Amino acid sequence: MTEQVPSATGPARLEQLAASLARVEHRIVAACQAAGRDRGEVRLVVVTKTYPASDIALLVRLGVRDVGESRDQEAAAKHADLAATVGGQLTWHFIGRLQSNKARHVAAYADLVHSVDRVGLVAPLDRGAAAAGRRLGCLIQVSLDGDPGRGGIGIGEIASLAEAIAATQNLDLRGLMAVAPLGLDPVAAFGLLPALSATLQVAHPGAVIVSAGMSDDLEAAVGAGATHLRVGTAVLGVRPPLG
Ligand SMILES: *Cc1c(COP(=O)(O)O)cnc(C)c1O
Repeated sequence: MTEQVPSATGPARLEQLAASLARVEHRIVAACQAAGRDRGEVRLVVVTKTYPASDIALLVRLGVRDVGESRDQEAAAKHADLAATVGGQLTWHFIGRLQSNKARHVAAYADLVHSVDRVGLVAPLDRGAAAAGRRLGCLIQVSLDGDPGRGGIGIGEIASLAEAIAATQNLDLRGLMAVAPLGLDPVAAFGLLPALSATLQVAHPGAVIVSAGMSDDLEAAVGAGATHLRVGTAVLGVRPPLG
């Protein structure tokens, strides 16, 4: 197998990442200005899936403190790789579809799981956090168009999933996550989030996070009150198709 992703670790890659991060930062600042929001209300999670741990190390040098991964095996390997060096400075976000049999493992290294989209994940995540002796933050991934094929729970099921998470010993319900549905205007789709988040916070005041917005639609997400943006391509480059 030949490498498909740039694996340079030298000054050229650092410069490339610095330039792309600056472009993304510029977009976030402009979007916050347009929305009348403070830049400090929005965290940038750099999605590093398919890119090597060496890129994460370079990103840390550039000030990045939040990284997102979507596959357990790959995420765990990078987490272990970086544990002795920069790992402790990072918050690890798990953003991918989660299989029940991987949930326990993810709970051992992730700090915030964005993709909790069914009650069946709650017990294994809770057991995994207990086994690792840590608390685990959870976001409920909501499907904004009601199509469960792309992940996410239906809007009408948010409250019951929230109760299930809140009833555990080791999980903290921190908020909501959404992906813009294919073929829908992201401004309209993300426009549902403020009311959903406000409703959730009535019963769960700590659930203040709204994770929304990727490389192509981060402006719409900032406009809809997102607190966490998940940006991969615009920082690291175009990924090879996920296998
Ligand atoms: C890959 C991924 C992202 C990042 O997408 P880009 O378009 O590369 O910015 C964000 N969120 C989720 C859930 C992802 O799987």
